[in-house]
Formats: sequence, structure tokens, C-alpha cells
Amino acid sequence: MRSINPYTNKVVASYQAYSEAETKHIIKEVDHAFGEWKHTTLEERKALVLKLEEQLLKQEDYLAELIVAEMGKVKHEAISEIKKCAWVCRYYAENGQQFLDRELIQADASESFVSFQPLGTILAVMPWNFPFWQVFRFLAPALMAGNTVVLKHARNVQGCSLAIEKLMKDAGFPKDVFRSLIIGGAAVKQVIENSKVKGVTLTGSTPAGKAVASVAGSVLKKSVLELGGSDPYLILEDANLEEAARLCASSRLLNAGQSCIGAKRFIVFESVYKQFREAFVEEMKKAIYGDPMETAITIGPLARHDLRDELHGQVSASLAKGAKVLCGGFIPEHQAAFYPPTVMDQIMPGMPAYEEELFGPVASLLKVKTEEEAVQIANDTVFGLGAGIFTADLDRGKRLAEKGLDAGCVFINDFVKSDPRLPFGGIKESGFGRELSLYGLREFVNIKTVVVK
Ligand code: NAP
Repeated sequence: MRSINPYTNKVVASYQAYSEAETKHIIKEVDHAFGEWKHTTLEERKALVLKLEEQLLKQEDYLAELIVAEMGKVKHEAISEIKKCAWVCRYYAENGQQFLDRELIQADASESFVSFQPLGTILAVMPWNFPFWQVFRFLAPALMAGNTVVLKHARNVQGCSLAIEKLMKDAGFPKDVFRSLIIGGAAVKQVIENSKVKGVTLTGSTPAGKAVASVAGSVLKKSVLELGGSDPYLILEDANLEEAARLCASSRLLNAGQSCIGAKRFIVFESVYKQFREAFVEEMKKAIYGDPMETAITIGPLARHDLRDELHGQVSASLAKGAKVLCGGFIPEHQAAFYPPTVMDQIMPGMPAYEEELFGPVASLLKVKTEEEAVQIANDTVFGLGAGIFTADLDRGKRLAEKGLDAGCVFINDFVKSDPRLPFGGIKESGFGRELSLYGLREFVNIKTVVVK
């Protein structure tokens, strides 16, 4: 497996994939480690998770540069990603005890309570777009709950995967509580089917989620799926348009547009369409793409050249079907996998920009006349991850958020962000289950009822 720097187009490092026997052996070791790890106290786990936070912060510069080299994110965003991983470690270290405390329930017996016990070794299949954050938002609660973890990371970020293994060691965790598996997607089936693996979480595309969920279903193992999205943002007549344009462009451009919860489709009321379009295109044009190590650069290259070409294919197919480009929409002449900030309008059903996830800095504008039409278009997608609403009428915003939009999270007058304190996840083909908060920690535990007559 090779990591190729998408800015220089040079190989960063090559890794030999583990054989089936090596993979089995590692799982055996991690399962063995679970035998002792599950008996550690919450105080002991808390101390180690806080050490992990400390190591992340101590090594943030090195880790951020590894992210930049392997997937091309701008360095200041990579630093923020590492800081957020430190935050999620602290959050679960401080709240784990409370989330895992026995829950007393009054029933017919003299005593009855719910006890939260670890399940064992959980497989995490992760994507390259936030190569540390996606792992840590699962890892921190899994460790606090007493589970052990094997990680199969995306093939282009194996350096990040091994760096996480080293961070665990540097933090002083017992051997084999966490191990990286250097394997391809095809080897995931055998890991899920291994009787020592008790569950699987996947963050990635919808096709990968369907493949993993069907294997997990065939052996009746718990799965959590955090999949793709095509988040709609409603711009209502009374929205603060300048503010909406600025925040919508920030969301669309974060991580060079390679975010599951990036704002992707902008559904704008006719009366403010022209004004919003102008302000939004201006904001998108302000972004500067270039060397991700330079501080003045706002967007780096896409993570791989093939992904950039695929995105351009979706844009070209949309334009061929009648969409209009307002900025961007071409492949720059450069060795890097750049794609410029791109805005299209006159988007219609049947176009890739309407039907599919566009995983890059490409925005689609849609004009609507009524609230019903806005909600109908917003929900006319296989996805249901996040959504945004910009309006001055907060009651209307809350009504649309609760009853109107089919999504796992809706933000009013801001863009969707993950936060350790709030549950995160989707519905429809964006997946099932939740990460973060109390809900995330409770996904991979045995919710055990104990009754005393
Ligand atoms: P991807 O191609 O689905 O890969 C994700 C992970 O799944 C990788 O480790 C990949 O391994 C593995 N994989 C792919 N196909 C598989 C299969 N058939 N069986 C088992 N494992 C398989 O996704 P990506 O391109 O890395 O990430 C982008 C996608 O992730 C987007 O759709 C984005 O919206 C989604 N995403 C969702 C969230 C969320 O929280 N909902 C967050 C971030 C990203 P290989 O690299 O070896 O193929």
C-alpha cells in the first residue's frame, strides 16, 4: 500500500499488507488483551485516556504534517483536527464514569438496575478525510467503555494508522489494547467473521457501509455506520444573506470540500436567490488553493488524483445535462490534485449534482418558491446526514428542523459541526447508530439488566 502526497504527487511511504495469518494473530493478541483491559477500573482508564490527550498535544505538529503529507489537508486544519482529538479524549475521560454508572430502575423486584459492560474487540474501518478525528471519536469512548480495538484505516493513510498505534504506546496503554491492521478492503470480511471480533464501526462511503453491514448481519454482529451525505441548506427569505453566504462557503470548503457533513446543496428562496448567489460566489472565490503547508492557503489538493478526476466527471456530467457553472469547474494545470472552488446552478433531478454526493469544493444552487418545495427538494435524496437552515424566524427554523428535514442533525443559522457533547450520525443511506456524547459510548456496550428479587 502506498501513500502518495497529493500536492507533490510523490510516494510518501509504502507498506506491506498483512497476510491473513498475521491479521489473525494480531486479533488473537488484542482479544487476549481484552481479558485484562475489561477488569481495569474507570479511574485507570481515565488516567490513560488523559495521557493520550497529552501525547496528542505534545506531538501535534508532527502528526499534522503527517496528515498533510498523506492526504493534502492544509496544515492549520490538520492542527485543529489533532486538537479536536485531544478534546474528545478529555471529554470521555471526564464523563465516562457518569455515562457508565449503573442506572437504577424501579420495577417489581427489590432492586433492578442496568449495567454497561464492554463487548470485546471492535473493528473500526475508517476513511482518509479526517484520518485522526474519525478514529478518535470512536476510540476514546470505546477505550473508556473497556473495549479493545483493531483499526483498518484507508489505504492512503497507513502512516496515520501506525502513528495512532504509537500514540497509544507513548500514552502507556497496555500492549495490544489497540492495534492497526494494514489490510485492504477485501480483507475486512474475514476480520468481521473472526469470532474474537464482537462488532464493527465504519465511517466511509455508502457502498462500503452496505458491504460491511451485510457481512456483519450475516454473522449477527453489531454495526454502526457513518456514511456519505449531501447536506441541504435552506436559505429562507428572512435570512441574513451575507452571514449565510460566508458560513455556507466555509462549510463547503472545509477540508477542500471532503467532509461528509459539508454543506452541499443550497436551496434558496426565489426572492433572495440572486442576492445570495452573488454573495456566495464571492465567498467561494476568496478561497486560495496551493501548497497545504503554507499558512495563507485555504484549500489544499484533494486527497488523491483519482478522486479529483471522479469529482470533475460529476461536474462535467451535470453541465452536459444543463447545469450552469458560475465559478471553477475545471482541472488546473499542476502536478497537485487541485480542484478550484466551483459553484453550479440550474440543477435538475437526474444530474449527478442533484442525485449524488459531490466530495470536493463544489456547490449546487437550487431555486424554490415555497417552503413545501424547499423541504421536498431537501429530502429528495438517498442521504440523511446533516442539514442547515438560515432564517431570522427561530420558531419556523425549529419547526422545519424537527418536523421537516430528514437528517440526523440540523443546525439553524450555522453550519453542521461535530462536537463531543452532541450525538452525531445519519438516517437513510447516511447510516445508522450514533457517535459522540452518551449515545456514542452506549453503542458498543452490553446493556445488561440485573434484577434482585
Ligand atoms: P470509502 O472508499 O468507503 O473508504 C472508507 C473505508 O472503508 C476505507 O478504510 C476503505 O478501505 C474501506 N472500504 C471500502 N470499501 C470497502 C468494502 N467493500 N469492504 C470493506 N471495507 C471497505 O470512503 P472514503 O473515500 O475513504 O471516504 C469518503 C466517504 O466517507 C464519503 O462518502 C464521506 O461522506 C464518507 N464519510 C462519512 C462520515 C460520517 O461521519 N458520516 C465521515 C467521513 C466520511 P480502502 O481504503 O482499503 O479501500
